[in-house]
Amino acid sequence: MNSTSLQGELMLGQHTATSLAQRFGTPLYVYDKELIESRYRQLDAAFTGLKHRICYAVKANSNLAVLQLLAHLGAGFDIVSGGELERVLAAGGDPAQVVFSGVGKSAAEIERALQLGIHCFNAESSAELQMIIEIATAMGKPAPISLRVNPDVDAGTHPYISTGLRDNKFGIPIEEALALYRQAAQEPYLRIVGIDCHIGSQLVTVQPFVDALERVLRLVDQLADIDIHLGHVDVGGGLGVSYRGESVPSAQDYVEALRPLLAGRSLQVICEPGRWLVADAGTLLTRVVRLKDNGDRHFAVVDAAMNDLLRPSLYQSWMEIRACTDAGVAEQIYDIVGPVCETGDYLGKERRLRLREGTLLAVMQAGAYGYTMSSNYNTRPRAAELMVDGAHCHLVRQRETLSDLMRGESLLPLSTDKEQACN
Ligand SMILES: *Cc1c(COP(=O)(O)O)cnc(C)c1O
Repeated sequence: MNSTSLQGELMLGQHTATSLAQRFGTPLYVYDKELIESRYRQLDAAFTGLKHRICYAVKANSNLAVLQLLAHLGAGFDIVSGGELERVLAAGGDPAQVVFSGVGKSAAEIERALQLGIHCFNAESSAELQMIIEIATAMGKPAPISLRVNPDVDAGTHPYISTGLRDNKFGIPIEEALALYRQAAQEPYLRIVGIDCHIGSQLVTVQPFVDALERVLRLVDQLADIDIHLGHVDVGGGLGVSYRGESVPSAQDYVEALRPLLAGRSLQVICEPGRWLVADAGTLLTRVVRLKDNGDRHFAVVDAAMNDLLRPSLYQSWMEIRACTDAGVAEQIYDIVGPVCETGDYLGKERRLRLREGTLLAVMQAGAYGYTMSSNYNTRPRAAELMVDGAHCHLVRQRETLSDLMRGESLLPLSTDKEQACN
């Protein structure tokens, strides 16, 4: 995790947060290369003895440098759009190690992925399978598929990030999957390679993963009985991190819980972690713009907002907020809010901090679902992203400019310019 200097200053790699903020401005996302590497290696090591592949879920943090780093370490990728596929390619990832999830893959996305030779489509409905068949037939190229089954287990997480229950849009109900596999096996332009599930995000116990895998493996055995043999089982992502000191499973706890179920099978195990690999490696630096009181309530208005970091507003997520330096004033209870015109625009509520105007704050564990969920709401250019690597640092995304934001927009040919319409 992140350290503090002798003076109590927050350190990111070997840099003080203050020096990075001074040099690159705020709001600023900072990722620690060593922390991402060490997470990947821990998980990879935990899988020792099992034929496995870690397919990083790109949507957690899709910065090209992050993808490049993970590809370099040997990761495959779990993507949910054609855009993410192009990012993987641009970062030097191997399409043959890509699994393509998502309920709404378009014809163009399927065609491109098939052309590039991805490892498999995680198909989420029979209608999607039909579309894949049509495209594969037209291209004369059999499509590798896995069915994403919905094992109907409760991941015990926030409703917005729980995906393994029957009544949400994800996956194929597990009782319908056998029939669909049987149909798929008859299709000359489908190649059945595996099965997958993904039951939700930010799971803090291993039991739901075990329950889901048991159900999935029961189906694997039923499929073997009808001579449909799978190459892999994909257990999805969802491993949680400790945002608030809660105890969470380690990589080893996670793999050891699954291992007895997988032992003695020749299946390759694929997992799709996103958050667990990158959340702890990221910090969002933001500066106090103004302190303001409304009656008894104290607000610190900072220069990052819900458009930069949506998790608190969208999921009511609690994220640790620290002052990077000692402001030398009395502690107060503050709501840390952004400048966006929404009551829901906050990063944290009721935080005990010592603040003055200009104090630098750090929102911790912001490496996952931070930048990737950011937007330009209120015409706010998105933050810069920086990767620290010990004593080095690399600007891996420039701060957006207002002209970036307006690029592609045009004015109407009003009044005197009427004749120039539509060219
Ligand atoms: C989002 C997602 C993941 C990653 O989830 P994390 O909680 O970040 O590990 C994995 N697989 C699929 C299909 C997803 O949609």
